[in-house]
Amino acid sequence: SCGICVEKCPFDAIEIINLPQELDEEPVHRYGENAFALYGLPAPEEGQVTGILGPNGIGKTTAVHILAGEMRPNLGLFNQEPDWEAILEEYRGTELQGYLEELRDDEVTVARKPQYVDQIPGQFDGKTRELLERTDERGALDDLVERFGIEAVLDQDIDSISGGELQRVAMTATLAREADFYFLDEITPYLDIGQRVTAARIVRELAEEENRSMLVVEHDLAILDLLADNIHLAYGSPGAFGIITPPKSVRNGINEYLSGYLENENMRIRQDAIEFEEHAPRTVTSGQVVAEYPELTKSYGDGEFSLEAEAGQIHEGEVLGVVGPNGIGKSTFAQLLAGRLDPDSGEVDADLDISYKPQYIEIDQHMRVDAFLRSITDDFGSSYWKTEIAEPLQLNRVMEQNLTDLSGGERQRVAIAACLSKDADLYLLDEPSAHLDVEQRVLATDAIRRYTEIHDATALVIDHDIYMIDLLADRLLVFDGEPAEHGQASAPKGMREGMNEFLANLDVTFRRDERTSRPRVNKPGSQLDRQQKKDGEYYYS
Ligand code: ADP
Ligand code: ADP
Repeated sequence: SCGICVEKCPFDAIEIINLPQELDEEPVHRYGENAFALYGLPAPEEGQVTGILGPNGIGKTTAVHILAGEMRPNLGLFNQEPDWEAILEEYRGTELQGYLEELRDDEVTVARKPQYVDQIPGQFDGKTRELLERTDERGALDDLVERFGIEAVLDQDIDSISGGELQRVAMTATLAREADFYFLDEITPYLDIGQRVTAARIVRELAEEENRSMLVVEHDLAILDLLADNIHLAYGSPGAFGIITPPKSVRNGINEYLSGYLENENMRIRQDAIEFEEHAPRTVTSGQVVAEYPELTKSYGDGEFSLEAEAGQIHEGEVLGVVGPNGIGKSTFAQLLAGRLDPDSGEVDADLDISYKPQYIEIDQHMRVDAFLRSITDDFGSSYWKTEIAEPLQLNRVMEQNLTDLSGGERQRVAIAACLSKDADLYLLDEPSAHLDVEQRVLATDAIRRYTEIHDATALVIDHDIYMIDLLADRLLVFDGEPAEHGQASAPKGMREGMNEFLANLDVTFRRDERTSRPRVNKPGSQLDRQQKKDGEYYYS
């Protein structure tokens, strides 16, 4: 045990050198004796998008409360009234001096988008239009509504719209405000890739064209890369202390974070690097066929939405990534496969036990996490279950909490654990990455892969984080069409062919980082972008 994890190290680190230690200096803020302490602050800059990359529980929100003027930092002196002069003295000559002076003089206005948009319906009762109209301080509302594509939900009640719509409504509400400093706590959950790229472009424009300061927390690294001018890394021991580094270039910052070693800080934050293959893996479909289906069709109502799926086979032991825009029929297809919906034509030849994790996790049971998980599996508490499920999903710290008290990321991990704990042939996971930090995404990916392999089961994973899909999937099912009107599903394809088809639909190409081979989005119309499109190589080199 290294102190971070209660039991065995989920990173399999037998020997971690230089594990982050609390700094030998005064923190910016400490909540109380032996309570969480924050070292360092991010520095928002006019005309720039500043990113923060780090795990959950490391002090990002605390830092933002301080920068938003909602909390005066106590410099570690938690039993004294914080004093602006002492704070300014501490930051004299740093990038933050000017900012903090404005904050002291009450000259900073802040607009913020909360992390958990799922909570908005509980806080606001009424139509989307009513919520948005009171935010229109810049006169930019109509433009934002159009670009985020939310016209259709303006006259719907807030509590009836989907998570992806809520996310875009919340972004619109925040960016419509008149503020010097915009804080966006995760812009991607529940959005498809096209919507993620659009959101990133809108945030960038507000910085560049209106000279605003944007501060963004984001765990989808391909999008963070596209979005930010520079980033601060946050590391430490979640729940105990967090250290925010000085700004780094977005490329180096993400590379260092993935490598697990911060160069200037001389600090190892993870034992193993997260690495990407430059070439598509060879497609191996050696497992037995667990499901076979001919061409399938399904439509709802009077054909308001229709889906056509190409014939295909699904094998034992494989993880199938499912990619495509929202509203294109991915969940519908999953339900056809699960036998929960009958196709209009075609028949699924499979008798499968399915375990399903929906995209939006609604938990209203007043039950402790351990009791809930025990009710799902007899394996609960066995050493096998602990190693394969509880540890990689970092459940130890939440076992005694109530389901209703969990944060979004905790709820997600409990839901993934519950899904994998059921005895099934096919595990269907809809957006497991939502609200997980980078470490948790990688650990969840490993847990899903191992579990599928050991149990000769199959996993179908719908996700919009391209790095996670890359690390997770053996083959891809690609959906395309016109959202909310009609969708086509491809047969399962090899990664190279699947990524090419998917990204061609989106018109986005990726190059490889020279140092790390990490995929990076090309600038539209750049020489590489044009060349790769000509060659038909959108992702793998
Ligand atoms: P992040 O945004 O990176 O997830 P937070 O800033 O929300 O992290 O929280 C960092 C730590 O500070 C957590 O362990 C949290 O429980 C603790 N914390 C947050 N607010 C308070 C508070 N008012 N009093 C004591 N501890 C707090
Ligand atoms: P995805 O999973 O790709 O987001 P879905 O399969 O959930 O897409 O939905 C595809 C389309 O079908 C959407 O326009 C959705 O509103 C519609 N739809 C889904 N379920 C039903 C239903 N039970 N009745 C009518 N329309 C539905």
